[in-house]
Amino acid sequence: MIVVMSGEATADDVRGVVDRLHELGLQENISSGAELTVIGAIGHIIPEYEEMFSRLPGVVEVVRVTKNYKLSSREFQHVDTVVDVGGVKIGGASSVVIAGQCSVDSEELALSTARAVKAAGAHILRGGAYKPRTSPYAFRGLGEEGLKILAAARQETGLPVVTEVLSQQDVEAVAGLADMLQIGARNAQNYALLEEVARSGKPILLKRGMSSQVEEWLLAAEYILNQGNKQVVLCERGIRTFETATRFTLDVNAIPLAKELSHLPVIGDPSHGTGRWSLVEPVARAIIAAGADGIIVEVHPSPDHALSDGAQSLTFENFAKLMTNVGRVAASVDRPLATG
Ligand code: PEP
Ligand code: MN
Repeated sequence: MIVVMSGEATADDVRGVVDRLHELGLQENISSGAELTVIGAIGHIIPEYEEMFSRLPGVVEVVRVTKNYKLSSREFQHVDTVVDVGGVKIGGASSVVIAGQCSVDSEELALSTARAVKAAGAHILRGGAYKPRTSPYAFRGLGEEGLKILAAARQETGLPVVTEVLSQQDVEAVAGLADMLQIGARNAQNYALLEEVARSGKPILLKRGMSSQVEEWLLAAEYILNQGNKQVVLCERGIRTFETATRFTLDVNAIPLAKELSHLPVIGDPSHGTGRWSLVEPVARAIIAAGADGIIVEVHPSPDHALSDGAQSLTFENFAKLMTNVGRVAASVDRPLATG
């Protein structure tokens, strides 16, 4: 059960609700947003409580939430959340494309990638400075130097920047520069990190863990929302299945399902979802056709020389083609690519 307080509710009104919860042996979880305070009731809830709490001063609505995830559920919020990333809206009337290198490798290559994706119509620049690598001997990113390069790319192109954060100790540095923080598949259930990035107040791109069920993914989002940060975008990036012909199996089902179960925007990642550049465009089209709010795609000036994920990275030319063809699909489902 969630008790929504009105914008005019006083601290005494909030205390009144909390005291009543305690009398009933329940715990509270308070999220104070810019406009509303929302009190989640934790414990054994019986239907009679809805009526009881709706009569308390300052209460505007009592919502019964049957799912394990609460704040991220459609039951809790019917209208779609729109996430603002440096002025680019994800979850609105148009589809958004995030593109760039898997890992930032040099200023020259990163800047040329930023220029190329901008020229092709991308809306947000991606690039990893802190890379989660399966092997500790692989290239693990340029760290702070990579962040500075991304800042220079934003300065030149005007594209907002999303970049991954791997550990709690890096959150401050990354949040100081990026417009959006990415939680990668490998950290999708790192709950301490989820709470720390949430507290940065920045929009969060939350990848689905490669072995996470949809409910676990939404519960991961719940950790962020529960800290009072509502700016979360879900990203389907492929899951582990018995199939080894592709790197992962992009779960198209999860896109409309997540949108049905949650009000949060959902995007898809055809690069990690397939692991092969030749499959990226067709799967990108499928993602948009399935109702996603956007895609995130890896691009490199010379994929053969990329320090990570070259096999799934598009050349500038192939990315420009993808933009044209994905743009057609987006228009046909009445979610045209955002312009400007
Ligand atoms: C990435 O975006 O480069 C990345 C590492 O993604 P994921 O966490 O989905 O593997
Ligand atoms: Mn990658």
